[in-house]
Amino acid sequence: MSRGNLFVISAPSGAGKSTILKKLLVAVDNLAFSVSHTTRAPRPGESDGREYHFVDRATFEGMRTDQAFLEWAEVHGNLYGTSRAAIEEQQAKGIDVFLDIDVQGAHQLREQRIQGAIFLFIAPPSWGELERRLRGRGTDPEETVQLRLNNARQEMQDAGRYDYLVINDQLDEAVDVLRAVVIAERCKGRRSPNGQPIDWEKVKG
Ligand code: ADP
Ligand code: 5GP
Repeated sequence: MSRGNLFVISAPSGAGKSTILKKLLVAVDNLAFSVSHTTRAPRPGESDGREYHFVDRATFEGMRTDQAFLEWAEVHGNLYGTSRAAIEEQQAKGIDVFLDIDVQGAHQLREQRIQGAIFLFIAPPSWGELERRLRGRGTDPEETVQLRLNNARQEMQDAGRYDYLVINDQLDEAVDVLRAVVIAERCKGRRSPNGQPIDWEKVKG
């Protein structure tokens, strides 16, 4: 069984990463979303175990001490981390895993030189549109919006370090681009476009 890839995806808050990923997970087989742990409070409509595992600071710090995280970072004043065990289980089953993590977390994974990790950066079509989307989402108070906009300037500086850059202008086009990347990376790893291993003996004849 060939191992699944690890797609590491970052974007400034409000660029549309969660929206794109939700559509991608429906459109592509054998793909899983890595559910991070966070100390942030759930937004309206979010549920524990789906968007995040919502934990208190003491629980998060306990997991960190136990080396349970592949990477972790403090983002916009909250702690976020990727569980090592959950990722490993999916990849071992040949499933590609998407990590929605910030630029600091992506940097940590690049340093770890993890095999099969592919880095994607999603950017909004313009600064004005990013601001509109952040406010339009209507889930964050104004001071949180300001904090996220300030951080976005810094995060955008990192875009050049990623393998792929995707501009999220038209949503469906951005989803198509991501789908194309997933399929191309599967073919690079000698797997079929749907993620299944290729029976090479049968192909060779
Ligand atoms: P992120 O996960 O990157 O913080 P979200 O997926 O929550 O961002 O998107 C932020 C807001 O922008 C949401 O209200 C979403 O519906 C909207 N949005 C996402 N992509 C697009 C797009 N291509 N065009 C217009 N609005 C979009
Ligand atoms: P939000 O609070 O809007 O869901 O996410 C805020 C930021 O935290 C986003 O940039 C998101 O990618 C990042 N993030 C979510 N989970 C993780 C994680 O496990 N690790 C790291 N480093 N960042 C994360």
